[in-house]
Amino acid sequence: MEYLDCIIVGSGPAGVSAALYTLRAGLKTLLISTGESGLKKADRIENYYGFPQGISGEMLLHSGEDQAQRLGARILQSEVTRIESFDGLRVITPQGDYFCGALLLATGAKRARPNLPGLAELEGKGVSACAVCDGFFHRGKPVAVLGSGDFAAAEARELAHVAGSVTVLTNGEQPSADFGELPVVTTPLAEVEGNEFLSGVRFSDGSRLPLSGLFVALGKASAADLARAAGILIGQQGIEVDAQMQTNIPGIFAAGDCVGGLLQISKSVGEGAVAGMAIVNFLRQKKQGKPN
Ligand SMILES: Cc1cc2nc3c(=O)[nH]c(=O)nc-3n(C[C@H](O)[C@H](O)[C@H](O)COP(=O)(O)OP(=O)(O)OC[C@H]3O[C@@H](n4cnc5c(N)ncnc54)[C@H](O)[C@@H]3O)c2cc1C
Repeated sequence: MEYLDCIIVGSGPAGVSAALYTLRAGLKTLLISTGESGLKKADRIENYYGFPQGISGEMLLHSGEDQAQRLGARILQSEVTRIESFDGLRVITPQGDYFCGALLLATGAKRARPNLPGLAELEGKGVSACAVCDGFFHRGKPVAVLGSGDFAAAEARELAHVAGSVTVLTNGEQPSADFGELPVVTTPLAEVEGNEFLSGVRFSDGSRLPLSGLFVALGKASAADLARAAGILIGQQGIEVDAQMQTNIPGIFAAGDCVGGLLQISKSVGEGAVAGMAIVNFLRQKKQGKPN
């Protein structure tokens, strides 16, 4: 297991901007990124400072990563599936676990929920987005994880400790992660069923699976997914932070689209800078034994 001064989850504008400050202050900094920034989808950026002819989102993204790497940043292409703060700050990826003195979440905006009949209505009534938070309510009972990648696999592993059975539902996708011995059903889903509480799911071929809990873990772990499992407070707009971009957990910071507000590059870069400097000060004070 490797120890770093600072781990930044995300290498978009917020994450890279923070890294420029932590690296120049001499902190050993690791950026972890799935490589899927919202910026990649932006064909032409015309409202960001310094580019009179505009610039493609992809080029801006690569320039930022290049700048951080020239200052000594390591960028690990991977997905963070969980963060924990029980015993120091631990960042969990399919490649292994990393420990750090300070952590920045810069994972961009929350992804959309699947458009499955019944899903939204049963949220909080058997449908959950967090195995660590809600798995306990289903101890000894049958649950399913909706997803097909590493995040779904991490949630399924967590649930396997408490639930009676765990089935993986990929909703038509081919599994892209290792689910071990767990049963994987690839048949597309037609409906999430239940009146007051979840009772199960119905598949497109008419078959049914009775369930006590359904854990949605589609795509990559979003900031809200990571935050929820780590006990970080989430507000109406996104992760809650103070003026220094620090969350309710000392040493864990958040910046950019994942904290909500104006979802723009300039705001993400500005917040990244504030978070980067705050991390530098946090670790300096910690080293001097001062309370943060
Ligand atoms: C189509 C489109 C057009 C846009 N046009 C403009 C524009 O013209 N001007 C403008 O100012 N803004 C524009 N935006 C918005 C802009 O892209 C965002 O505001 C900005 O990218 C947010 O930066 P960020 O660093 O917070 O997040 P992002 O740029 O989204 O970066 C998120 C980072 O987190 C990583 N990540 C996420 N989850 C995980 C995980 N579990 N593990 C590891 N890594 C993870 C991703 O790989 C990525 O590196 C546009 C957005 C879109 C989608």
